[in-house]
Amino acid sequence: MDAYKIHEHYFDMVVVGAGGAGLRATFGLAQKGFNTACLSKVFPTRSHTVAAQGGVAAALGNMGEDDWRYHFYDTVKGSDWLGDQDAIAYMCKEAIPAIIELEHYGLPFSRTEDGRIYQRPFGGMTTRFGEGPPAQRTCAAADRTGHAMLHALYQQSLAHDAQFFVEFFALDLIMDEEGACRGVLALEMATGELHLFRAQGVVLATGGYGRAYFSCTSAHTCTGDGGGMALRAGLALQDMEFVQFHPTGIYGAGCLITEGVRGEGGILRNASGERFMERYAPSVKDLAPRDMVSRAMTIEIREGRGCGPNKDHILLDLTHLGAEVIHERLPGISETAKIFAGVDTTRQPIPVLPTVHYNMGGIPTNYHGEVVQLRHGDPDAVVPGLYAIGEAACVSVHGANRLGSNSLLDLVVFGRAVANRCAATLTPGARHKPLPTSACDKALDNLDRLRHSNGSRATAEIRLDMQRTMQNDAAVFRTSRSLSEGVSNIGRVFDSFQDVRVSDRSLVWNSDLIETLELQNLLGQAVVTMACAENRKESRGAHAHEDYPQRDDANWMKHTLCWIDGNGKTTIDYRPVHLQTGSDEVDTVPPKARVY
Ligand SMILES: Cc1cc2nc3c(=O)[nH]c(=O)nc-3n(C[C@H](O)[C@H](O)[C@H](O)COP(=O)(O)OP(=O)(O)OC[C@H]3O[C@@H](n4cnc5c(N)ncnc54)[C@H](O)[C@@H]3O)c2cc1C
Repeated sequence: MDAYKIHEHYFDMVVVGAGGAGLRATFGLAQKGFNTACLSKVFPTRSHTVAAQGGVAAALGNMGEDDWRYHFYDTVKGSDWLGDQDAIAYMCKEAIPAIIELEHYGLPFSRTEDGRIYQRPFGGMTTRFGEGPPAQRTCAAADRTGHAMLHALYQQSLAHDAQFFVEFFALDLIMDEEGACRGVLALEMATGELHLFRAQGVVLATGGYGRAYFSCTSAHTCTGDGGGMALRAGLALQDMEFVQFHPTGIYGAGCLITEGVRGEGGILRNASGERFMERYAPSVKDLAPRDMVSRAMTIEIREGRGCGPNKDHILLDLTHLGAEVIHERLPGISETAKIFAGVDTTRQPIPVLPTVHYNMGGIPTNYHGEVVQLRHGDPDAVVPGLYAIGEAACVSVHGANRLGSNSLLDLVVFGRAVANRCAATLTPGARHKPLPTSACDKALDNLDRLRHSNGSRATAEIRLDMQRTMQNDAAVFRTSRSLSEGVSNIGRVFDSFQDVRVSDRSLVWNSDLIETLELQNLLGQAVVTMACAENRKESRGAHAHEDYPQRDDANWMKHTLCWIDGNGKTTIDYRPVHLQTGSDEVDTVPPKARVY
């Protein structure tokens, strides 16, 4: 192994990731007096959060009746009763102050006539515990809400005293013998120098792993590096079988067309022009939750009612909304549709197809953002010094299916929660315990091995194999056969990584090496996703198993935990779902059939 020189840094807290979740945590921690570093592999405002379109949910009631308890009910039901009800209650209640806070930070929300934050309907959001009309709950800045949010948060971060390390790639967590996290090792991409960040706590805010799939709406940077690091540290990931397909990715390109389009009145049509969602979800129609709409679209195509010469997609029609509404409320997607589908949305429908969009699973945490693991029979044992937030985490507020506009919400609510938790449990400036000199050995060894890998297969080839396998074998609908084949197929792809070749041997801006490190992170999560999906013998939320079409609460209302070893062998166990709400303002929603 080459000898590597390591620069050491001492901070109270290190946040890995500068998307919505990472930035909210970073300045929250700085505000509480913690000396905080924020690492990001891309410039903060290029994080995937910038691409979010539709909006962020909070029961402000600006445009009709609403109550955070209705939002709570909808989110539990949307999660297909796999979400933890204490975490959901916390998120929905905190949503209101968290959004008002964003308004005060300068987020340029769209406005109502009387100057209040504009709110649009979104899938699965209703009133009066599902009995009332659809709720107008999703706060929007036209169809560029994530852009507006990320910039507002970045500006706040600059106003506070946090230190940014931009284009630093976090390699691995540094754990001690007692299983506590004590820091993170990172590669400075421009120079190839290594940096050890020592801290009282590390917050993983690294986003999702959408790029494990061939067709996804997420950025190329969404490679689940935090989840990869957690797996290499011997930690389990939770509920990885639940992968959300967004109903309206542009056919072919995969770019997202926000659910806000249907919120504004857009309609899905099959080859005969029929508004088919009326048959699947008679009351909410096109605004049913994403898992249901994606399945309905897949069934239409399978049964020969798809559009186009190959009958292989669906049309999203917004022509009836009129040019004025389209230009004012949906300017971004009109541009996207023009560029990627060549259609003028005021006159033609957009060809769309369900596309991978969001990972409900991730690093398990409680609602303070502390990472939890199953230890000595305790399902809620906290891993000292380690936190996870945003799409990298599984709190779990989204359970088996996330409702649109609840993710931007979870970023700010739990980014804030981590800062509050640290303020309550840690002391700024506390002394760092010594670390053994061997603390970085494992991480360095992995880096060195990949850097010098000299096999016969290019990183891009293995990545494509993985993406195709996931796309084919862990799709919208799954069967015992597709999943057991998937387990052996993805196992083979995992093994082929032994034979990877990195051609660039330098350490200066080595994108070949970075992509290989990212692929390693993706592969671990792809194997775990497939194993968890194969294991769950029921249908719930986004996991639609054709051989087990019913939800089975007696046997499966539990969170999956999955570990992986260096050889790709997985181990599965479970944690109970929290049914108690932990609040005297709202009661547990008992499980019932999920119909809309
Ligand atoms: C196209 C699109 C539209 C969406 N629209 C909506 C919407 O309207 N409403 C909604 O609620 N949700 C929406 N979502 C979902 C939501 O935007 C994401 O789940 C959320 O933005 C993720 O934020 P995050 O902070 O967890 O991670 P990200 O924004 O993905 O940021 C991850 C950060 O981690 C850093 N990072 C990752 N790995 C490393 C590493 N190894 N070393 C250093 N840094 C690293 C990156 O540099 C980046 O700063 C949308 C998602 C997509 C893809």
